[in-house]
Amino acid sequence: MNEENWSFRTRAIHVGQANDPATGAVVPPLHVASTFVQHHAGEWREFDYSRSGNPTRKAFETTLASLEGGCGALAFASGMAATHCVTMLLEAGDHILAGADIYGGTYRLLHKICSRSGIEVTLVDTTNPAALEQAFTPKTQLLWLESPGNPLMSITDLKACADVGHRHGALVGVDSTFATPVLTRPLEHGIDVVMHSATKYLGGHSDMLGGALVVRDPELLKRLYYTQNATGAVMGPLEAFLGSRGMKTLDLRVREQSRTALRLAETLAGDKRVAKVFYPGLKSHPGHSIAVRQMVGGFGAMLSFEVAGDFTQTKRVCESTKLFQLAVSLGAVESLIEQPASMSHASYDPADRKKHGINDGLIRLSVGLEEFDDLWADLDQALAAALKK
Ligand SMILES: *Cc1c(COP(=O)(O)O)cnc(C)c1O
Repeated sequence: MNEENWSFRTRAIHVGQANDPATGAVVPPLHVASTFVQHHAGEWREFDYSRSGNPTRKAFETTLASLEGGCGALAFASGMAATHCVTMLLEAGDHILAGADIYGGTYRLLHKICSRSGIEVTLVDTTNPAALEQAFTPKTQLLWLESPGNPLMSITDLKACADVGHRHGALVGVDSTFATPVLTRPLEHGIDVVMHSATKYLGGHSDMLGGALVVRDPELLKRLYYTQNATGAVMGPLEAFLGSRGMKTLDLRVREQSRTALRLAETLAGDKRVAKVFYPGLKSHPGHSIAVRQMVGGFGAMLSFEVAGDFTQTKRVCESTKLFQLAVSLGAVESLIEQPASMSHASYDPADRKKHGINDGLIRLSVGLEEFDDLWADLDQALAAALKK
């Protein structure tokens, strides 16, 4: 029985999740202990103190590393803590180049926190190879990507960006929260660090907060582990337990949710109350051909669209759905709706928001596991209610 030959779905259930030898329990126990007894002073066993390592967290990390094809993973208290850990590898005077279509919280971390320690940050359209090439400086140490991007679902060619980044001597990371390892495995495309907000699809049930990094180079893993252990934003055992449970159904959930998202995107694209739909699975999407190459088995369960209405009407659409719940976050079994301009991307400067195409009429959907017919009926009535004169 060779674990490496198992398929994705089998590894999601069994790798790192062996039954408990002490009791035979089919599910590994939840280890809440903060410290571990040693046989002799100064002679350490595998676990000594839960910030440095915890068996339940280790199980989650082992499963995720297998799904992404990495040499190891590190689990954090949140997605932001995971991204922050990567930026802590840099020093004053260094430069970070990041995609223009990134998560609002990452934008804030880079511009308000990293900049405070003397790190320069520039945003660039990573879907434009010429612009990307020009944006590097001799100080660029990190290229930070996100694909699909947020909230316009831009698709970045990971392989091409990894090549350019490495040519300039930069570390290349990607926030792969929207894609999940079901649809894209960035390490196979030459990316150095994959980041996940485990709060989203990995957990999948809106009941935990967590983040993760996966890498393919053991040296890089060591440097990141050192920083994580020194700064302490580790994932708690209960979250690790929930994350491991979530990953067992990740493949089924993401594939099915992506299927429903595609149907919704097609339906919205054919509706005259809708001005524009952003979904990489549509042929009209500028990143469609890259997505076809880079994403396997689906285009994700996130989509956004612009209504033919103003800020207030858009707000009213988001407030008129009954099944889609008005909330930020994403990736869980329940569908969510939000207005990026007033919610997830409120921390962007208004001018930057405009520049990056995040208009007042934009609505973002996280498509859950409910039935398509119910979801469409809900959107249809909300559009009718909110856009009537
Ligand atoms: C939610 C999210 C994050 C941040 O993760 P937290 O777990 O909320 O800290 C980062 N990137 C993307 C794409 C996200 O959706």
